[in-house]
Amino acid sequence: MYAQIIVDISHEKLDRIFEYRIPEEMRNLIKTGTMVNIPFGKGNRMITGYVTGIVEKSDYDESLIKDIDSVVENAVTIESELIELAGFIRDNFGSTMNQALKTVIPVKKEMKHKENKTVELMIDEDEAAEVLAKYRKKNAKAKVRLMEELLKVSYLSYGIVTGKLNVTSSTIKAMTEEGVIRIKTENILRNPVGHLEKGRYSIQLNEEQRKISENIKNCMNKGGGVHLIHGITGSGKTEIYIDLIEENLKMGKQAIVMIPEIALTYQTVMRFYKKFGDKISIINSKLSQGERYDQFERAKNGDISIMIGPRSSLFTPFANLGLIIIDEEHEGAYKSESVPKYHAREVAEERIRKCNGTLVLGSATPSVESYYKALEGKYTLHKLEKRAGNSKPAEVEIVDLREELEAGNRTMFSRKLDGLIRDRLSKDEQIMLFINRRGYAGFVSCRKCGYVVKCPHCDVSLTAHNDGKMKCHYCGYSIEKPQLCPKCQSKYIGMFGTGTQKVEEAVKKMYPQARVLRMDLDTTSKKGGHEEILAAFANHDADILIGTQMIVKGHDFPNVTLVGIIAADLSLYASDYKAAERTFELLTQAVGRAGRGSKEGVAVIQTYNPEEYSVAMAAEQDYEGFYRHEIGYRKLMDYPPVTMMLSVLVMSVREDVAVMAAELIKESIENCGERNRIIGPAEAGIYKINDIYRRVIYVKNKEYEALVNTKNTLERFMNEDERFLNIKQSEISVQFDFNPMGNV
Ligand code: ADP
Ligand code: ZN
Ligand code: ZN
Repeated sequence: MYAQIIVDISHEKLDRIFEYRIPEEMRNLIKTGTMVNIPFGKGNRMITGYVTGIVEKSDYDESLIKDIDSVVENAVTIESELIELAGFIRDNFGSTMNQALKTVIPVKKEMKHKENKTVELMIDEDEAAEVLAKYRKKNAKAKVRLMEELLKVSYLSYGIVTGKLNVTSSTIKAMTEEGVIRIKTENILRNPVGHLEKGRYSIQLNEEQRKISENIKNCMNKGGGVHLIHGITGSGKTEIYIDLIEENLKMGKQAIVMIPEIALTYQTVMRFYKKFGDKISIINSKLSQGERYDQFERAKNGDISIMIGPRSSLFTPFANLGLIIIDEEHEGAYKSESVPKYHAREVAEERIRKCNGTLVLGSATPSVESYYKALEGKYTLHKLEKRAGNSKPAEVEIVDLREELEAGNRTMFSRKLDGLIRDRLSKDEQIMLFINRRGYAGFVSCRKCGYVVKCPHCDVSLTAHNDGKMKCHYCGYSIEKPQLCPKCQSKYIGMFGTGTQKVEEAVKKMYPQARVLRMDLDTTSKKGGHEEILAAFANHDADILIGTQMIVKGHDFPNVTLVGIIAADLSLYASDYKAAERTFELLTQAVGRAGRGSKEGVAVIQTYNPEEYSVAMAAEQDYEGFYRHEIGYRKLMDYPPVTMMLSVLVMSVREDVAVMAAELIKESIENCGERNRIIGPAEAGIYKINDIYRRVIYVKNKEYEALVNTKNTLERFMNEDERFLNIKQSEISVQFDFNPMGNV
């Protein structure tokens, strides 16, 4: 018997299968997914690898095949279903097989189990009474204490014995040796939802929800497919998910519910917990490695049937998966930012295709990609048009900021927004102020010569902070804010742009009576900072919450009756093809935050471009109108989803090397035999990060398949071409990104 092995080294040259003989005595230990030690290369250096297949006969010369050395102890084995999924990721998103395998096993090493230790009596009561008398005679006080307790309750937790009873471990050991007691150790799998309060669940689906749910359930019994639920915020999508999961459980199958980390709040988990109790578990970044490991074990053992979590929950090793739900499917977080740059939606589609399961996508603002597929008939589209509870959608007011300036208003707040803020404060209702901007806010420039203070390691401007420092959000570089322009020495150097801090200052000045909370990268960087702020706001410890995208995603604050969008168009200036989509999505989500309770809400959108379609359609809450405009633009410009796109990012610490490598790559793409459109090489949007130069080539083709072929040709080229190999390999790296979420 021979094992096909992927070595645990991520290098393009080693990205293939190696065959090793399985020694007789290891036959029962080695299966697909086992991690093994193997002698490798000329020097027979010992390395590790994953078994991805087992065959009877090898095509290689028998005498050259080496033996597997041993099985790696405490390694996590990979289910064969997930190995196949890794193969799919490798082929379709560009990475080595080893990187893809690392992606499908989010916890690499078997973790030590948490132990439950108890101390038990080993002898019967009569004997115990004699022993106790003996201890008393000898005046062995600790032993007496323990025996007295053990005669009351036949066993005690080890912690209580050494803690409250103050019996030392050497005393326990002595008594164990006497045969009086024993220590029992049990492994327990940690349960992150174990402490939650049980509840009753009593929501009945309304007519609109019920129709959709019945529809999808009908499909679930015959092969599933992909379903897109387009439902406005608060229309009751989550209730439909719960109904579908129940059906899936009845079919004896398991389910994965993907929710972006930022929306995975206590409130949300509780809704699932109330319905399904300990059948659910969660995965999130707050769990320790050990806790994460345990959740995957519990899924494998069949202790749980529903896993809720962000992107990595997709790889939960359920044996009989039937349903995957992706809530807020438009979220950028579903796309991996590191290699392999896979999209969870597409990998989920593959996973459910393999098991004849069902994939349900839900969003108030579906991604243009998904909506396009739904209209093409590849996904089944379902619509929810009314809010489910008793709340009404917010009324939206649009304000043209140019008119404010003409009327002499130089503050950040239009007269309309100012009036409403004062009104809400007087009624003790809450307000959210949203700034559609991140990263570049608060850059410092000279008003005389135009000099902008930039990071010396990255091609981005530094951001001013209240502590008098300027920081780079990419690499952490920080300097004191200059008093004079470093270029022309003028003193007219100052801060531009509307950062969250500036809004906070303005609010405090205009409404000194208001209690204010601010949520952005700075205030949430410490662990749990994010939830603390949300909890405080929910508790009405503040009247106004100021923040970036973070505040608009999935949080329900029933007392919020006003949402102000300070400047709607800032994200439009980002120069990538998804800018309008992102703007529409953020504005729609922000508007959806107003009036979630019984009181009516108003949203005010302040903008310099009221006629810009992403702003205007968000104000109208008109997704279809936006989609029609946007798809027209994508068609005209040949962007995804109309045309498929592959970005090839070439990086090097040496600029000349990056230029040279990118030129060679372009040449190879031109000669690969596919009818591609090639754009570049050009400087990437951010040309330098952490002293590494970045050049990018975009390749477009109507067929995804053609781009996969192009990537494969390119990989071979980089392994074989003399000129390319002449470049010092340690000086360059190349990354692929299929249908990137924006320009790089
Ligand atoms: P979405 O996931 O679409 O944003 P939710 O499922 O969170 O919407 O529902 C919004 C609110 O409406 C929640 O408070 C929920 O409990 C309530 N709700 C949903 N469906 C119903 C229903 N059929 N009857 C009563 N209340 C409902
Ligand atoms: Zn200057
Ligand atoms: Zn930097």
